[in-house]
Amino acid sequence: MKEWVQDPPVIIEQGRDCFIRDIYGRWYLDGVSSMWVNIHGHGHRHINERLKAQIDTLAHSTLLGLGNVPAIELAHRVVQLLGDTLATTPHDLNKVFFSDNGSTAVEVALKMAFGYWKHVGETTRNSFVCLNNGYHGDTLGAVSVGGIDVFHALYAPLLFKTHRSPSPYCYRCELGLRPDTCNMRCLAQMEAILSTRSHEIAAVIIEPLVQAAGGMIVAPEGFLRGVRDLCRKYDTLLIADEVATGFGRTGAMFACQHEAVVPDIICLSKGLTGGYMPLAMTVASQRIFDAYQGEFSQLKAFFHGHSYTGNPLGCACALACLDVFETECTLEALKPKVELLDGWLRDIAARSARVGQARGIGLMAGVELIQDDTPAETCQYGQRIGWQVAHRARQKGLIIRPLGNVVVIMPPLAISMENLVSMLAIIEEAISEVSSV
Ligand SMILES: *Cc1c(COP(=O)(O)O)cnc(C)c1O
Repeated sequence: MKEWVQDPPVIIEQGRDCFIRDIYGRWYLDGVSSMWVNIHGHGHRHINERLKAQIDTLAHSTLLGLGNVPAIELAHRVVQLLGDTLATTPHDLNKVFFSDNGSTAVEVALKMAFGYWKHVGETTRNSFVCLNNGYHGDTLGAVSVGGIDVFHALYAPLLFKTHRSPSPYCYRCELGLRPDTCNMRCLAQMEAILSTRSHEIAAVIIEPLVQAAGGMIVAPEGFLRGVRDLCRKYDTLLIADEVATGFGRTGAMFACQHEAVVPDIICLSKGLTGGYMPLAMTVASQRIFDAYQGEFSQLKAFFHGHSYTGNPLGCACALACLDVFETECTLEALKPKVELLDGWLRDIAARSARVGQARGIGLMAGVELIQDDTPAETCQYGQRIGWQVAHRARQKGLIIRPLGNVVVIMPPLAISMENLVSMLAIIEEAISEVSSV
């Protein structure tokens, strides 16, 4: 905080396409998608128009006891989209609960899963299984199921107890295993928890495929599928937090698609509105919804609500954002960009001694920097190597935001090939400049 207060601030005044401009007129490429939310670029005409039309119709009306038109339309559209992409049955992921950010989407999912078991009479299910290096938001329930010590350890006395399973971070396997055995062992450890404690576990919560805030840790193939199978085998719920991975980031509409996984509850936010408005959805199955049905005297309703739940402006943006996926064939257009990025990730580790592992899927990637003299060694957090790279990149007209030693590559999906090429060139230059000092 002390350094941050001393540094001159960058204050953004305007956005256009994949660029943002500061108050001094300098344009930057938005390589962080304005914190992973922007999909189709800034100031997209269709989204702007739909938002303006919505403002003239209805800015907000509560969903507590009432409905509103864009929220209903959006709920239908997202349930349909989940059905089409994940091949759900009509009873899977068909009930939508709205909130206004990723953390609350997770809080809702946790409370919903917990309440589900109470209502069906399994009263000992008071805990959750989560992963080391996991991130689910900054509110206390979400922090309780988080696993990033730098962010979370301080708050330990305030948190509820969970069972933490190893992260499938095979590059730095916490069990000291080779990548090919790390995956199996991570699943085996989760199974050890579930097999002895399934009567205590309300749900397993994971970020499907990529532990994003943990450092863009890409799970090995089969891990997500394996977690789904374990949840089924031990009859517990699976919460998929797709707040970061949803809406095309991984190259598919949802990360769960890659391994044909249907969770019991899915959390969506960030890209939901294309980066326009704060909005989130927690989508659950019929089975969970039904557990909350009862006579008034049983008080089984899901007692949770937020003032701006289902905000019509946010929902209008989300509907427009989904229109653009169709009209601009966003996922189809992504393919050559993903290929380009994959190629660059493959080569950068060979070209730079400072790069330990470069990993990614779709248009979300991380370049993990190491000490060049001792390749397996992690850089000390205090060296702020990621920040140094980001700082250099900013001087070259690119905004990126690192996670510790990991340089994060997360541009809007709409980025052009040309701008993606220059983004990667700037990052590579910045890494080599920081390495040579
Ligand atoms: C960002 C993020 C959240 C929290 O979302 P906020 O809108 O910042 O509260 C939750 N889960 C994941 C996986 C995230 O990346």
